[in-house]
Amino acid sequence: MTTTVSRETTSSVTTEHFDVLIVGAGISGIGSAYHLKTQCPERSYVVLEALDGFGGTWRTHRYPGIRSDSDLYTFGYRFKPWTNAPIASAAEIQKYLGDVIEENDLAPHIRYRHHIESASWSSEDNCWTLHVTRGDSGEVVRFTTNFLWMCQGYYRHAEGYTPDWPGMDRFRGPIVHPQTWPEDLDYKGKHVVVIGSGATAATLVPAIAPDCAHVTLLQRSPTYFISRPNRDEVVEMLRELEVPEEWIHEIARRKVLHDLHLLNQISVDEPEFTRDALIDAVRAELPPGYDVETHFTPKYRPWRQRLALLPDGDLLKGISSGRASVVTDEIEEFTEDGILLKSGEVLRADIIVTATGFNLSVLGDIDFTVDGDHLDLADTITYRGMMFTGVPNLVWIFGYFRASWTLRVDLVGDFVCRLLHHMDELGVKRVTPRLRAQDADTEVLPWLDPEDFNPGYMMRSMDLLPKRLDRPEWQHTQDYWTERETLPNADLDDGCLRFE
Ligand SMILES: Cc1cc2nc3c(=O)[nH]c(=O)nc-3n(C[C@H](O)[C@H](O)[C@H](O)COP(=O)(O)OP(=O)(O)OC[C@H]3O[C@@H](n4cnc5c(N)ncnc54)[C@H](O)[C@@H]3O)c2cc1C
Repeated sequence: MTTTVSRETTSSVTTEHFDVLIVGAGISGIGSAYHLKTQCPERSYVVLEALDGFGGTWRTHRYPGIRSDSDLYTFGYRFKPWTNAPIASAAEIQKYLGDVIEENDLAPHIRYRHHIESASWSSEDNCWTLHVTRGDSGEVVRFTTNFLWMCQGYYRHAEGYTPDWPGMDRFRGPIVHPQTWPEDLDYKGKHVVVIGSGATAATLVPAIAPDCAHVTLLQRSPTYFISRPNRDEVVEMLRELEVPEEWIHEIARRKVLHDLHLLNQISVDEPEFTRDALIDAVRAELPPGYDVETHFTPKYRPWRQRLALLPDGDLLKGISSGRASVVTDEIEEFTEDGILLKSGEVLRADIIVTATGFNLSVLGDIDFTVDGDHLDLADTITYRGMMFTGVPNLVWIFGYFRASWTLRVDLVGDFVCRLLHHMDELGVKRVTPRLRAQDADTEVLPWLDPEDFNPGYMMRSMDLLPKRLDRPEWQHTQDYWTERETLPNADLDDGCLRFE
């Protein structure tokens, strides 16, 4: 690969070339830029980002209380210690990412307001050509690159998913999705209904409850919650002993991963026991006689959906205070001043918040072609949840559901850099996953096994995602604990990758 950056202008379109082009400046894109810069310093690169700044998820979401639901020892990078409380606000995460950019001089490599519209691969030139619209000037510019590193996340940032309920147009107050929260939304002294049962609803309800007349969390079915103090005693003790922050970070990561692995295993091995333990722990933080059976007893096995964390039991405290309540029912229709439920109950509302999830976006809604043919990712099979059969020189970061997303950013970062070095050693310019003879007769399966993990936004759009085979090489295992051994040791010459 060349290491030069060239810039040329033909007719009215400017073209720039980089060895590697990273799509997205969220936590994945910034981490990938760091790994590329430190492990492959000889390569030129650029990060293109549609928004007007870095952070992705943590920039888009601005609803009250917005925070992580993973600890930042593992949601943070392995290379940059996290020094605040384990669960972090969006502002703290943004600050952390800003520090990573500054400390590693990544800023000159990031272009904001660059929305990638299309990407086409040419095997003749061994390169991708991207058409990009600049958000500031509306100008269309062109980038070429030898390697595309897709860090565009998994959902559409412009708007969230809101189901179409009857009567929505009749409701007189605002209907708000948390992903596009209006800065000036006045909920003081109002009756607010938050529809949803996931992490977003659980974050939002206790955050606004103190200011509202009342907040109702309206859910169709319950979720598993786990309530934890937002502090780590081991970390506090190590800090008191003046242990260096790098060590504390590593120890805290190992501890979190150890505990999470145990919880993971026990949920699979003893689902009934885990279910009862989780529900009993919630019951213990609610007033005596509270109807835990109806509102906090999920129908699915623990771990089939992400466990929602409640730092310091905030949601349960909100319910106990009487300022927030939970209703488990289905919506019949919206009315002028609230929601009529299937049970016949009416929920009065001045504001309705639809914390109902995301619209899945595969590869950033970019129009892809490979040698002139339209690429439908759903027709491909994934190589280790990162690359795709028939798609050359492209890696996608798709993190973990049952562990922090970012753990995979570091692992995939190492993998890509190893792959790029391997290509240099072989003197080749192209790497394309392809099925081997022994893979040919294997059953082709959907991206995720719904028996194993089935969140709504994934189930709604599974047909858009690549396929997998029941073999570790050809799937995203969603198992960090196995992958941290297998990915660094994956044999690049086992025939799954064709080098040319
Ligand atoms: C409210 C919320 C809380 C969450 N909390 C956690 C948590 O605690 N732990 C956890 O593990 N996960 C959590 N997640 C999941 C979370 O999205 C990921 O963990 C992580 O932030 C994703 O980072 P990313 O960089 O891969 O994607 P994103 O944050 O989605 O960033 C992708 C970036 O790519 C840009 N982009 C996309 N398409 C294009 C294009 N065509 N052209 C140019 N730029 C483009 C986007 O503008 C965006 O800035 C949470 C998600 C949400 C919504």
